Amino acid sequence: MEILKKFINWLYPYKCVSCDCVLETEAVWCSDCFMETIFIDQPICKLCGRMFETLYACDEMCNTCLEFPPSFDEARALFQYNETSKNMVMKIKKNADNHVAKTFARMLFTRYPIVFKNADLIVPVPSHWLKIMKRGYNPAAIIASEISKISGIAYMNAMRDLKKTRQQKHKSIQERMENVAGAFICKKRLHDKNIILVDDVLTTGATLNECSKALKGCGAKHVSCLTIACTRIIQ
Ligand SMILES: [Zn+2]
Ligand SMILES: [Zn+2]
Repeated sequence: MEILKKFINWLYPYKCVSCDCVLETEAVWCSDCFMETIFIDQPICKLCGRMFETLYACDEMCNTCLEFPPSFDEARALFQYNETSKNMVMKIKKNADNHVAKTFARMLFTRYPIVFKNADLIVPVPSHWLKIMKRGYNPAAIIASEISKISGIAYMNAMRDLKKTRQQKHKSIQERMENVAGAFICKKRLHDKNIILVDDVLTTGATLNECSKALKGCGAKHVSCLTIACTRIIQ
């Protein structure tokens, strides 16, 4: 049995989800990448889920959420966005890596059981059809469908991206919000439904905010967002 296991591992080696190095055992990261990974842990902003950098804040909201209250009810992520978590996200974004998506879907499911408690539907943040044509898939949909398989909660491609939004990088929160305003529509009736909205990364939250607005406009009662990574808190 052990020999068979070794042979399979030789054929299909376990690889680090971030740097791709071959691992000796069935693990997610190599030790270097594990050391570089920042796991989201308390204290976090109760709305956007970003980590506070001081130990004193508890059950509070960050300045961004106070200044620009989001339309979603909560957002939670696994890791803080840095080079290591960026590499992990890129595996799904550039190579549609289902194995990586499955690994993180399982982690999200065990890490945030409360988010799944009363959820009715899992909805991915949509990609514009031109982006899907170019890439062949929507990365958020890959993660969302793995979360649906693991949790047993129904998956629904309920939204459409109407605007091929321009690059969001180097834009302020205000600019990002304007950039995505009216970009998303919900195609389904979601009367009284509790939704889990899925994306790869939460940066300013402008996209998740706009999508949640559209979902609530179609009757959704509660929107929780799940992402693999989120950026640092903006002071
Ligand atoms: Zn690694
Ligand atoms: Zn916040």
